[in-house]
Amino acid sequence: MDYGEFEGVIGLEVHAQLLTESKLFCGCSTKFGAEPNAHTCPVCMGLPGALPVLNKKAVNYAIKLGLALNCTVNRKSIFARKNYYYPDLPKGYQISQYEEPICVNGHIYITTGNGKKKIRIRRIHLEEDAGKLIHEGTIETSSYTLVDFNRASIPLLEIVSEPDISTPREAVEYLKLLRSTLVYLEICDGNMEEGSLRCDANISVRKKGDTKFGTRTELKNLNSFRYIEKALDYEIRRQIETIKKGQQIIQETRLFNPDQGITYSMRGKEEAHDYRYFPDPDLLPLIVDEEWIETIKVTLPELPSEKMERFVQQYNLPQYDVEILCSEKELANYFEETVKLYPEPKAVSNWIMTEFLRELKETDVPIEKVKFRPQHLAELLYLIKDGKISIKIAKDMFPELFRKGISPKKYVEEKNILQISDESLIKQAVEKVILGHPKEVEEYKKGKEKLFGFFVGQVMKETKGRANPKLVNDILREKLKKQSE
Ligand code: ADP
Ligand code: MG
Ligand code: ZN
Repeated sequence: MDYGEFEGVIGLEVHAQLLTESKLFCGCSTKFGAEPNAHTCPVCMGLPGALPVLNKKAVNYAIKLGLALNCTVNRKSIFARKNYYYPDLPKGYQISQYEEPICVNGHIYITTGNGKKKIRIRRIHLEEDAGKLIHEGTIETSSYTLVDFNRASIPLLEIVSEPDISTPREAVEYLKLLRSTLVYLEICDGNMEEGSLRCDANISVRKKGDTKFGTRTELKNLNSFRYIEKALDYEIRRQIETIKKGQQIIQETRLFNPDQGITYSMRGKEEAHDYRYFPDPDLLPLIVDEEWIETIKVTLPELPSEKMERFVQQYNLPQYDVEILCSEKELANYFEETVKLYPEPKAVSNWIMTEFLRELKETDVPIEKVKFRPQHLAELLYLIKDGKISIKIAKDMFPELFRKGISPKKYVEEKNILQISDESLIKQAVEKVILGHPKEVEEYKKGKEKLFGFFVGQVMKETKGRANPKLVNDILREKLKKQSE
């Protein structure tokens, strides 16, 4: 992604759905998948006279994230009404925070091709979600629309970055780190497909070296890492082309069409809303004192950025491995448990990043429910290291071990697949192969050395893949040399 004399300027607005049991201002359940409108009450339906009561856990979660993202937690914040009409918004306004949000002025460090980069967080505020509209039939045939208010008033955190992000790649890195931080904190499930994490992007371009920002567009509803990268890249290129043609960028809201890979205009600035924010008279200012913040601070776990830092130091692993291993807390734990039993971090990491993650993806089991535990993996790695089984055999039997949670040691004993390291047995096999392939032996003697691999293959076939490859090599070489003399 090189934009020549231009560079991108990107600021992200991310919405994270909080994992509270009840909604932001009432006791209704936030559980997913209930009958439509089963989780509603006069408060979240906006009935006259109903009064909101703030959910303390949601505030705790907001403070937690604020601390994790190095923000200042405001001692006083204000809930405001964001006024607009839409059928999924029964009150005619959304309760959000505007001028005085709960957290401000944070930052995180992302890893880029040129080392670490600081991305500043402008603000984090609490707000309620809207309901969901379900349009029956296609646009042409639709005769009615249904509304489900189960989601209405579920707590969200909006996390707004400063425009410090320069490339689509950096945007994805930022989002991944933000996502894993939310998941580590256990305040959001991070599921983008289900909408628990949604992202809007503000994008402009400018000539490299310029300090002034260009006119920006806003891309709405980007809900997968892949789309985000593609959409941002397309939009940056579109803006550059526009400027090169001598035209102006129009400030507007755009949408991404994943099938065509393009962005298109949704509404212009003149259609932008004027939300007429004002402090919600039904809610007191939110006061958070030092003591409250302290009680949250002590509950903070090791964060993904800290864990990655430690993994590099402690295990001497490359950044690539570390990012994958730390992407999920449970995966990192699995790795560390295995290393305790088999203290070769890189070997453990290699196995986890390839065979283990492949099986995990195919079986779609959460890591903590995987039957194949760290002690099993350590056992398997010892079997390979001690020359009891070959890597090939280990890989072949892995899916079964993984799915059933069988001890590798027991498995190889029971199935009689321990590697043959008995020299006399291998010698026998080698002799048989040499006797059985006089033509190839003749050619090999004449200098066709490539045939060595062929002989190895035949010996492995003869021993059903169980012969120790190093011994096969040594013995074969010796026997063939004797043939040539
Ligand atoms: P609004 O109030 O319209 O949402 P903000 O000024 O609060 O606008 O900015 C929203 C987001 O847009 C922030 O993430 C910010 O970093 C980003 N942003 C602001 N100006 C630009 C720009 N010129 N180019 C890219 N992103 C920008
Ligand atoms: Mg905004
Ligand atoms: Zn309710």
